[in-house]
Amino acid sequence: MTTIDIMSLYPKDMNIYGDTGNVLTVARRLALYGYEPRVIAYNQGDPWPDHVDMILGGGGQDTGQKKIVDDFYRRADLLRALAADGVPMLMICGLYQLFGEYFETVDGARLDGIGVIGAYTVGRDVRMIGNLVEHSDDFGDVIGYENHSGQTFLRDGVRPLGRVDADGTGNNGQDHTEGARVHNVIGTYMHGSLLPKNPAVADFLIRTAVERRYGAFEPERLQDADSRAALQRLDEAAEQARRVA
Ligand code: GLN
Repeated sequence: MTTIDIMSLYPKDMNIYGDTGNVLTVARRLALYGYEPRVIAYNQGDPWPDHVDMILGGGGQDTGQKKIVDDFYRRADLLRALAADGVPMLMICGLYQLFGEYFETVDGARLDGIGVIGAYTVGRDVRMIGNLVEHSDDFGDVIGYENHSGQTFLRDGVRPLGRVDADGTGNNGQDHTEGARVHNVIGTYMHGSLLPKNPAVADFLIRTAVERRYGAFEPERLQDADSRAALQRLDEAAEQARRVA
């Protein structure tokens, strides 16, 4: 069986506004493409698995971020090496911030990040809340929902995930950037959940994970007609949600 190992990173403390939907979406789509998804929940103190094909992390309150950082720093070298090696990762909001250089919270605490993404975040007392639409060179229009106090600034040369022109604040409300893309790591403020509404992003993560592990992504070979129809229904539902946005 062609298994794909998906790590859900800190789901106990870093998982708000439906971010678990990203894990469910990737698992479901993989199954419909004919692969066997294996979801590994990794929380503080857990043993690190032997093998990981994809890592998905969610958002969290500042307090949740403080809870996970000690364990996170212990895993930093490993995460940096996996990122550099091209493992596809999706980090939403709170974990996006901690994949950067640091997050200075609104109450003045400084949480170091692990520096996968050249960016830093400063907490403000006005939260940025609401629907978010961006245009991404890689994925076309990406839609979601943001709710954060941190304003993120990308270092020179770091590629944003997309550009916010009308709806939403994005990284900082000043430079129209949203998220970041480094290697195959996507950092973004998009909750939503993101992946059910943006199949292009889900399929990028899936394709990259499968190609790294098995050399080629071949759903045509593995898929049956029922699965193809089910996948089409998922894509139609996503299209409908995107039209409303
Ligand atoms: N606590 C962080 C902030 O408020 C992240 C919030 C989130 O993950 N939604 O900026």
